[in-house]
Amino acid sequence: MTSIEVALQNVVVYSIPMRSRFRGIAAREGILFEGEHGWGEFCPFIEYDDNESIGWLQAALEQANTPWPTFERSRVPVNCTVPAVAPDKAHQIVLDSGCKTAKVKVADHPDALGEDIARVEAVRDALGPGGAIRIDANCLWDVDTAVRNIKQIDAAAGGLEYVEQPCTTVEELAAVRRRVDVMIAADESIRRAEDPLKVALAGAADVAIIKPPPLGGLKRSLEVAEAAGLPCVVTSTLGTSIDVAAGVALAASLPELDFACGLNTLALLTGDVVGDGTSIRASDGFIEVPTEQPVPDLRLLEEFRQKDPARTEWWMDRLRRVSEALRG
Ligand SMILES: [Mg+2]
Repeated sequence: MTSIEVALQNVVVYSIPMRSRFRGIAAREGILFEGEHGWGEFCPFIEYDDNESIGWLQAALEQANTPWPTFERSRVPVNCTVPAVAPDKAHQIVLDSGCKTAKVKVADHPDALGEDIARVEAVRDALGPGGAIRIDANCLWDVDTAVRNIKQIDAAAGGLEYVEQPCTTVEELAAVRRRVDVMIAADESIRRAEDPLKVALAGAADVAIIKPPPLGGLKRSLEVAEAAGLPCVVTSTLGTSIDVAAGVALAASLPELDFACGLNTLALLTGDVVGDGTSIRASDGFIEVPTEQPVPDLRLLEEFRQKDPARTEWWMDRLRRVSEALRG
């Protein structure tokens, strides 16, 4: 039996409510399965088609069937994530996190600049002068708006570490990068293995946001990071500790790690399938790299098992289709 067939036979569809809506969803869903060396998580975002989801399945299979490599470091600095919330809430999120780096969502709606400025001011107040603030506009600005807004937010923040994906295309990112002093990070522009190279060659970014699942897993992500030649920020894809572990393994394997990573994402979920002792959460701004891959707790697997038969069938059907697409 191939590893895909094993994966198809023994899987758990999970659903974990989010603390607040994120990417328009109220609960994170996905599939967990056990392989020869551990557990894999298949959790492409709902809107991704079968082809876009192939890398996610490759990553999950690699995770379940390959032992971890030797790591370069034993802990990974991480950022806290501040959604588009009011300044007092933003202040509290940063204080509660213990992180020295905050990633702040901006451009939530067309007239958001005033709110964005108030939010980064509150975040700076909570972090103090030594902290780092990065913002993420998720492609929502055009070039002129990006240039104007980045300059204002940078001034209000007392200096930004970088701006993540201010505009949609690689050409737009390059245009913004020529007109501002703040570093540009590419996230949405890096979906496929060939994209990071394109981003680097176009002079479109100073930093690459790397998520192992879309790129097809740890081994492929390391190759892509090396080929891109840009400093990398590893982020998880908002899944359980099994998904976070894949990101931590990559962050711990990179030859150099200059920035805090976006791996503190369990803070966005109301629970985890891995028990408290081994759940991969940050403490004082760092995640300790586990020596072994985390394993789901059977009681928690049952608690978060998808209870809606229609949703379970939707995920099983998706897994079957993506498996077929992977087999080509
Ligand atoms: Mg982003």
